Order: sequence, then C-alpha cells, then structure tokens
Amino acid sequence: MYDHRQLGRELQIFDTDPLIGAGMPYWLPAGAAIRHALEEYIRELERRAGYQHVYSPVLAKRELYELSGHWEHYRGGMYPPMELGSDEVVLRPSMCPHHAVMFRSRGHSYRELPLRIAELGGQYRSELSGVLGGLTRVRGMQLNDAHIFCTLEQAAGEAASALAMIRQAHQALGVEPARYRLSLASESAKYVGSARMWADATSMLRDVLAGSGISYEAEEGEAAFYGPKIDVQVADSAEREASIATVQIDFYQPERFGLEYIGPDGRKHRPVMVHRSIIGSAERAVGHLIDVNGGAFPPWLAPVQLVVLPVSEAQLPEADQLARQAIERGLRAEVASDGSLSARIRSHKLVPYLAVIGATEAAAGEASIRLRGGQRLPQLSVAEALARIDSQVRAHTTELWDAPRHAV
Ligand SMILES: [Zn+2]
Repeated sequence: MYDHRQLGRELQIFDTDPLIGAGMPYWLPAGAAIRHALEEYIRELERRAGYQHVYSPVLAKRELYELSGHWEHYRGGMYPPMELGSDEVVLRPSMCPHHAVMFRSRGHSYRELPLRIAELGGQYRSELSGVLGGLTRVRGMQLNDAHIFCTLEQAAGEAASALAMIRQAHQALGVEPARYRLSLASESAKYVGSARMWADATSMLRDVLAGSGISYEAEEGEAAFYGPKIDVQVADSAEREASIATVQIDFYQPERFGLEYIGPDGRKHRPVMVHRSIIGSAERAVGHLIDVNGGAFPPWLAPVQLVVLPVSEAQLPEADQLARQAIERGLRAEVASDGSLSARIRSHKLVPYLAVIGATEAAAGEASIRLRGGQRLPQLSVAEALARIDSQVRAHTTELWDAPRHAV
C-alpha cells in the first residue's frame, strides 16, 4: 500500500497551503480530472437507477439542525454558527435535513414512491487539527449522498439495491472492502427515537446483508444518532479503517420533519428514509484509491489516459493529430516529445496507454500501443487503437485491454 498524502502531492493531484488551512486541500488539474470522471460516473449510475439529482445550499439556519436532531446530537462535529442579521446560520454537517425539507415542500402520493433524491455536494465537519491529513480527514468534503423516501415495505428492497450499486461501483474503481460492518447503537450512549424503531431498522439491515450473501461484523456504538447502518470499511497503509460507503434505514427523521404521503387508502402515512452513499466523499474515495493503486488509476479515471510519443521530431505532426483525435473523442490525451523515448516511457509509467509513433507507424497511419506495466501490442491503425481505448474507458473497468495480449 502507498501513502496518498505524500504521493498525492508528488503526482500533483492535490495539495494544501497553510494560508488556506489544514484539512482544506485543493485539487490540482490532475485531481480535478479524476474527480470529474468519478462524479460523472456516479451521476450516470444513479440516473440509470432512477435517482433524481438536486442541489441544496451548504448553509442553513440553526433551526433546521435543531429540528433534525444534529444540533443536539452532532454538535461537536459542527462549525460554530455565524450571525446573519437576526438569524444564525451554520455550515451543514449533513444533507439529510435539506432533502427532508425538499420532500416536504409538496404533497406526495404512494405512486411516486420510492422517491430517490441524490446530490453531490459540500458538507462540513469541524475536525480538530491533530487528526487532519491528506484527503481522508478534511474539514469540508464533497459528499456523494442520496435519500430514498419510500414505504415501509419498500425500504429493505431499496437498501439492498443501494448495496448492489455500491458493489458495482467499487468493482469499477478497484476498491476492495476490508469488511462490512453493521453499526449498531450501544447500551450506554444516548440515541434518539424508540427502541422499536431501532430494532426494526436493525433487523431490516440484517436481512439485507443476509440476502446479499455478505459476511459482516456487527459493532455496537458505531450507529448514526438517528439509526443503525451498514458501513463498507476500507483500510489505509497504517491499517486505519474508514467508511467509504454506507446504507442506513431511518424512521426518526421522517417523524421529526413530519413527512407524509397519501396511501392507497386515501390516508396519510409516514415514509421511511433510506440514506446511502456509494463512494462517501470525493476526497475519501480518491485518497483511498491512491493508497491502493499508487496513482495507477483505472483507465476511465486516469488523469491522462493516453500519452502519444513520437520517436523523433519528424513524427510530431502525426503525434499531434492522434492526440487531437483522442481529445475530440472525449479522452484525456497529450503528446510528450522532450527527451529520449525510454525516458519518456519511464516518466509516464502510470499512464494507462502510450502510443508510440515512429517512421513506420507514421507512414502506415498506425501506432504502437504500450499498456501500463510494459505490455506492447501489435501495431494498430490509429482509428482502431482509439476505438479500442475508448471502448475500454467507457466500460468502466480496471482492465486495460480486453483482448488477449500479444507480448513482443
Ligand atoms: Zn442522510
């Protein structure tokens, strides 16, 4: 395993500055390219699964979090309120209250349920400076969050589908969970809601895990204040664990916000809220990926996917043209022409695809593709090489090439 804090800087993915402050990293162009690809993938996955995307403000009045229970039970993780005229506004510690308010803004029929609301948005945590570092402990993060408002009968199915999405996305990313954790309340700590709520939500989550064939460990004291959750845990190089994905069943916030829908009987019913995140925050996901892959990202996520290497200056026009065609197709490509060919190959060892163009290739309208790791493919026409790389990228796989490899 690698340490993303050091490597992230070396690879120019992110950095921090004392003047901005600890725990507030900025994303450099390579990091922004990764994050953009990641966000696009998640949005598309969610869109296909019937989620609707929204945006909500990162600030809200203190009263919102008093109603949600965050003010009382999560105060330690929240930023101090800011005075704004006669109001006090707070940086949000969570998106749940915002989405609950959005659901409440109009009436709903049971026919609309499950209603799946997703947002990739900022959320803030007043971490102490002692625990900050890199991308995994930060004071502000871009969270991949969603809330599914559904009937009691739909809740387990929605939680199971969310878990399946998590597994699909983690496979595309190359994330191997260290373990699945069923995070429960502890006897001693103070939690909200009735014992019945907790017991019902816990048994639903146990059924979901059993139905998915996932082995897990139950752990007391790790629940959210409003309900139990399934956490997908990953470990870093120091074997510190963190949650990278979560699925929660919540009966409490729908009650606090007085959420309702009209059932088939014409009466008002209370929906259940399923909270879920597939990759946690962009910060945590990218930090963990660097820890695991050392900067060798899957082709669809790599900041630069294709580097074109002209053997000599004479092939520069063909190299430029190939890079231009790749960019037009939506790939992230560039030309590297300074230095010896072997030095250029070495300095781009993390790039998934290198296209070498010498005199023979240039004359034939072809390129010699080298995969990350040194594998060399037979010469291909430029059109075919681009089509193959493009289809590999679109497949969202960690594999570089799906055809049998021909070593030279
Ligand atoms: Zn939530």
